[in-house]
Formats: sequence, C-alpha cells, structure tokens
Amino acid sequence: MIRLDGLRKIFPTKNGNVTAVENVNLDIQDGEIFGIIGYSGAGKSTLVRLLNALEKPTEGSVTIAGNNLSKLNNKQLRAARRDISMIFQHFNLLWSRTVRQNIAFPLEVAGIPKAKRRKRVEELIQLVGLEGRGDSYPSQLSGGQKQRVGIARALANNPKVLLCDEATSALDPKTTDAILDLLVDINRKIGLTIVLITHEMHVIRKISHRVAVMENGGVVEQGSVIDIFRNPKQEITKDFVKQVSEIDNTQETARLLAEQFPEGIIVKLTFIGKSAGEPIISKLFKRSNVDVNILEGDVSQTRGDSFGKLYLQLQGNSKAVEDALAFCREQGVETEVISHAEGTVPARRLG
Ligand code: ADP
Ligand code: MG
Repeated sequence: MIRLDGLRKIFPTKNGNVTAVENVNLDIQDGEIFGIIGYSGAGKSTLVRLLNALEKPTEGSVTIAGNNLSKLNNKQLRAARRDISMIFQHFNLLWSRTVRQNIAFPLEVAGIPKAKRRKRVEELIQLVGLEGRGDSYPSQLSGGQKQRVGIARALANNPKVLLCDEATSALDPKTTDAILDLLVDINRKIGLTIVLITHEMHVIRKISHRVAVMENGGVVEQGSVIDIFRNPKQEITKDFVKQVSEIDNTQETARLLAEQFPEGIIVKLTFIGKSAGEPIISKLFKRSNVDVNILEGDVSQTRGDSFGKLYLQLQGNSKAVEDALAFCREQGVETEVISHAEGTVPARRLG
C-alpha cells in the first residue's frame, strides 16, 4: 500500500542544511497498522508530510496505492491525496461548526450532494460512537470525543490510508485506550491501512502489527511488534521497550502480590536480552539457601535471549536473600524488591 524508497528530506536553513529524513526504506502492507516511533526531532512529522505530499522529497520516492507521488501532475495529486487522510494531536476541528457540520466538511469540499452527505455523516457518527452528539460543538466535547470527530471527518471520503501523528498524545491513558480500540475496530471493519506515529511504546504495543524505530531521520530498526519486544537490538529500541514493561502496572501487581504472599520478600526480575530465564531460576533453586516461589511472570524466549518479567517470592534469612539477589544481578538480570514482610513498602524504590 505504501512504499518508501531511499527517502531523504533536507531543509536548507540560515544555519546550513538540516537533514530531517535520511534514507528511509519502508514497505507498509494493505490493511496493516504500522507504527513509527521515535523521540522528538527524529523526523516523524516530516515523514508524515512526505507521505501526504505536503513536502517534496529531496531524494527518493513515496508510492501510495501504486502512485509515485512525485510523478503525478496537480490534478492526479489531488486525487491521490484523497486516498490519504490524517488525524492530529490537537484534533484541528472547526470550532464554529457542530459535530455533524465538522464531519460534513470534507464531503462538501468533495462536492457530495446534500442528501448523500447527510446519510454518510450519520453512518460516520455511528462508526465512531458519537450517537446523540451530532449537534454539539467541539467545545462541549471531551478530548476523546473530539478525536472521534477527527476520525469520522478523516474517514468521510473513504481514504485508503489513515495517518495518525501523535493522535493520542493529548489524551489521558484511559481515553487513549478507547481511541486505540476504535482504530483497531475500524481497521478490521473496513480494512483501512493505518500509520501510527508516536513517541509512546504502549500505543505501538497495543495495536500495531509492525513498527519502525526512527532516530536522527533514519529508521534504525523495524520488525513485527512481538519480535521487537522480544529482541530489541538498538539501544534506543531497548529504551522504548523498557518504557512499557516498567509502566506495566508494577505498582498494582506489587500491591496484589504482597497481599497474597505476606511472607518473605517479593522481587521482580526483568529480563531484557541476553540472560536466559530458565537456567537462572534453576541455578537459583540449587545454589541458594532461600525458598524460591514463582508467583507470576511473562518471559518470552527467542534464540537464547529472554525478554519479560518474573515475580518471585524469596524466603530465608536476610543474608541468603541478599546473596540470591546478587546472583541474579551477576547474571545480568535487573532485580527490584517490591515488597517485604513488614508490609508492602517498595523499599528500594522509595529509598
Ligand atoms: P519529530 O516529528 O520526530 O519530532 P520533525 O520531523 O518535526 O521530528 O523534525 C525533524 C528534524 O527536522 C528536526 O531537527 C527539525 O528541527 C527539522 N525540521 C523539521 N521541519 C523543518 C523545516 N521546515 N525547516 C527546517 N528544519 C526542519
Ligand atoms: Mg512531530
């Protein structure tokens, strides 16, 4: 559906040339949800502007639904642009228009007759779950509802591709999840190809099939989301992966486990690459003087690498417990004591 070949974008500025996008090659399949993640300044928004032909590449090409955008004349380009739609971090709604009128706007621009427009607007309102809000103004809506209007408006003319540039970055976590669920729903229902630009890894993990990691304008790593999570290769990718496993409700898990297992200490082991989970735990059983109880965990193995987390309960005298923790750390596993017998104080974290 989308193919980027040797894509480069250089901006000439007073202080010299800025390379915003550098030799990007990507192939995004029809019906795929493709994530592009990178920190601020990585070149994501420039890439988006190249995708919807708001910028011209300095070198390389963008091909969407078989059309090489650089080779089209103005009329063809306008037609090709109709296949590509976009939603934004700050929604970009028309504030003086109601929900219905906002959604109708691109239909008016496309010259769709009134009766057909009305029908399409109602369909879209239903699709994005805004029933009953058609006559509200944007200022009367929550952030999540505003983004639903943005999505409905973007889908009005049946695009083939939806570009989402930080579309959930202004929303709270719960609303973010609801909007991501909606995108998955739409992706399934109408087979829409979605390009998800973000700096948040949980957004990628929740709904993307594949992901590309951008740094300094280039794609430094790409693959299926599961492979990237199991086996991140670049430092920056490891950072992003870590971001998610740490957010992974650590506090909540700790609280529940501490209630359930009041004896001894509970320790969280984090495996990122290299160290293999099973041998470490079996060695720990054999060599230490603590009772080891596996409480819960989620460790995936790929070709000798492990990724994931494991919660253990360790019981024994404090010297033996310290030795056991030191052993884990020697094996390259991160350890974090999340509760101990006196209560549920996450000692290391507070200390
Ligand atoms: P991101 O969206 O990942 O934060 P951007 O694509 O906005 O990154 O920017 C990538 C780099 O290109 C940044 O260094 C930015 O300053 C530069 N850049 C973006 N647009 C322009 C422009 N119009 N002129 C000059 N430099 C630009
Ligand atoms: Mg940006």
